[in-house]
Amino acid sequence: MNNFQQSQKSKIFKPNFERHDQAQRPHHAALCMHCGAFYQAGHWSWQDQVPLQVERITCPACQRIADDEPAGVVHLSGGFLRSHQDEVLNLIRHTEQHEKAEHALERILKVHNFDDHMEVTTTGIHLANRIGHALNAAYKGRSQYHYSDNDTRVSVNWQRD
Ligand SMILES: [Zn+2]
Repeated sequence: MNNFQQSQKSKIFKPNFERHDQAQRPHHAALCMHCGAFYQAGHWSWQDQVPLQVERITCPACQRIADDEPAGVVHLSGGFLRSHQDEVLNLIRHTEQHEKAEHALERILKVHNFDDHMEVTTTGIHLANRIGHALNAAYKGRSQYHYSDNDTRVSVNWQRD
């Protein structure tokens, strides 16, 4: 990677994201006190029943939400968006529901609406990737994916005129 590419990347991502990459990894089973996600044997998931005597912590997704530090950013633009905003938002929410059910740490952080574009931030890179592919599958347009060097962050651009 040359210096120009390096500086482009540091513009996209704030440097203090790194601490979320090594977010709390408990040695025992644990429960997120904010969202109820359950950690066991290296995985976060949704469980109907969890042990009573379990450590209460903050999961990496809730930590990112609290700090407003996304792992994924989806940037949407183009004329199609203006006339189909509700439909596009529904697709994005639907994609989140599916992804989050399987992968507890993949969530939408924020949706920002601007005059001519929209920005959706996510707590995990897979959800941002899935949203990009869902938009492409449903509405065509162009999608571009830019991953950070260690694949812990992604920036997705989707455009349809
Ligand atoms: Zn949580």
